[in-house]
Amino acid sequence: MDNLVNYSRATLTGIAVSSGTALGRVLLIERENFRIPRYHINASLLEAEKQRLEKAISRSIQQIDNIIYSVQQYGAQPEQQALLMAHKMILQDDLFIGRIKRNIATQQINAEWAVSKAVNEVGLLFEHLESDYFRERRSDIAFIGKRLLRSLLGHSSDIPASMGEKAVVVAHDLSAIDVIQLAHKNVLAIVTALGGFTSHAAIITRSLGIPAVFGVSQIDRVAFDGQTIGVDGASGEVFLSPDAQVEKRLSAQVARLNEQREQLSEIKDLPAVTEDGQVIHLYGNIEFPDEVQQVNQNGGEGIGLYRTEYLFVDRQDAPTEDEHYQVYRRVLELSGGKEVTIRTIDLGFDKTFLAGSVSRVENNPALGVRAIRLCREYPDLLRNQLGGIFRAALYGPLKLLIPMVSGLEEIAWVRTMMSEVAADLQSRGLPYKADLPLGIMIEVPAAVTIADILAREVDFFSLGTNDLIQYSLAVDRSNETLASIYTPWHPAMLRMIDRTVKAAHNAGIPVSICGEMGAKAAFAIIFVALGINSISMNGSAIPEVKWALRHSSAEAVKHLWDELLELKSSEEITAYINAHLPALSVGMR
Ligand code: PEP
Ligand code: MG
Repeated sequence: MDNLVNYSRATLTGIAVSSGTALGRVLLIERENFRIPRYHINASLLEAEKQRLEKAISRSIQQIDNIIYSVQQYGAQPEQQALLMAHKMILQDDLFIGRIKRNIATQQINAEWAVSKAVNEVGLLFEHLESDYFRERRSDIAFIGKRLLRSLLGHSSDIPASMGEKAVVVAHDLSAIDVIQLAHKNVLAIVTALGGFTSHAAIITRSLGIPAVFGVSQIDRVAFDGQTIGVDGASGEVFLSPDAQVEKRLSAQVARLNEQREQLSEIKDLPAVTEDGQVIHLYGNIEFPDEVQQVNQNGGEGIGLYRTEYLFVDRQDAPTEDEHYQVYRRVLELSGGKEVTIRTIDLGFDKTFLAGSVSRVENNPALGVRAIRLCREYPDLLRNQLGGIFRAALYGPLKLLIPMVSGLEEIAWVRTMMSEVAADLQSRGLPYKADLPLGIMIEVPAAVTIADILAREVDFFSLGTNDLIQYSLAVDRSNETLASIYTPWHPAMLRMIDRTVKAAHNAGIPVSICGEMGAKAAFAIIFVALGINSISMNGSAIPEVKWALRHSSAEAVKHLWDELLELKSSEEITAYINAHLPALSVGMR
């Protein structure tokens, strides 16, 4: 493996998570792979070692202050700031810092060793406490410990507060929060060693329109700061120190994509209608209220999926009813009368944002207390959210969407909660609107199997293909190693989608797609063939999908879905799609 470190020119391939091309210099964010030096300190040098620690602590606090400043500049969520403040407090807390100092003094060891010992010791201390809350604090201590270590070792490994020159960010792994922090900087593209196409970091990257390739094995070990790098976010290729020919090709591709973007902006406000007049409604998926503007600018007809769990990012406590209300009201006001579908919280799995009392460590979080299950365990989470939604509903057309539903009982429970919350608002004399259309995500295989039963109880279905693929094929959606078998083009997936759409149509309710599968221009036409007439996707994908639809004929693709359903393997399906879609002139990336 070590020989990898020294070679510089290479073409590597990963998962193409966000299209677009970039050519620039590497900015390496090092988080992993640093060794912790361990050595003893002479008694006479102990004071100097403590001072070295003090300096590292001040540097770390300064770094956090810089991040706080920069997130404030860009209107970040108050909860992000709260987490940063909490991290700053850990750096001033005697339980942790006092222990490091004592480790240095009593064991006569270097500061790095003392830090790593203290992280383990405090971790063990918390582990034996009953409360989930304290157990979770271990991860904060570990995180801060790493920050301190990097500071002691002179590694600059944070998301930089500002980036002078435009650069391609290379890292071992990035969280959704990291990507949010990078959003307003001079980032040309992102390349990471870990992560999958539908990981939430990937979803945010796409919604921000930053070209990205994830799952490029070893990239953080082979790339170095300042190295020239080319990124093709559509093919998943990453070129380290590309030769002149590749550079020329990439520059031409950048120019071509810019041109395409201009062409697309010309049609963005036209309707999404096929050449022969079939209308498809295109909506945007958002994680944060400000993204509404981007959806509007890209010609979206409203918000088809608001992932409200991002309201819970890195905070200790759940939002109050009033906080919910304020945020949803803002989303509706920004939407200017367009429809907004609010999905109730889908915390758990890779979105365990809330660090406080409802967070838990689970052996198998994807199959754990996620989404509606978490709400059933902590009903106040949903109660406060519904209260906020009902109050905000007076400001524009709202629909309610429930994630991870697997049976009728959950729908019945939500309806009871809706009545209770409405009665409570009434008794408090607050104005509200509670008779909102109620829909469910179809993303659990059990829900597909009983889609006919569920369809009679709700007003609409939204197909969550990201999770439906994960749960049907038993493939972790964020595991880069399994990316090649995480595919919508499995016969089981096509049959599941087919069954869901037929159940919805038989019951006379609409069905849309809000999983990432819906954001691929070339696939939109397949949904036309299937009879789906609304798709929700990240805002930046809307113009391209619209272009593809406007250049297709519904009549010409009628046969497509039935033919696809006849195919017996992923290979056959992929070959069929590759053979037929370009012929339908939907070849634009
Ligand atoms: C999905 O599962 O397809 C979906 C849209 O929801 P999320 O990506 O938030 O799980
Ligand atoms: Mg989902």
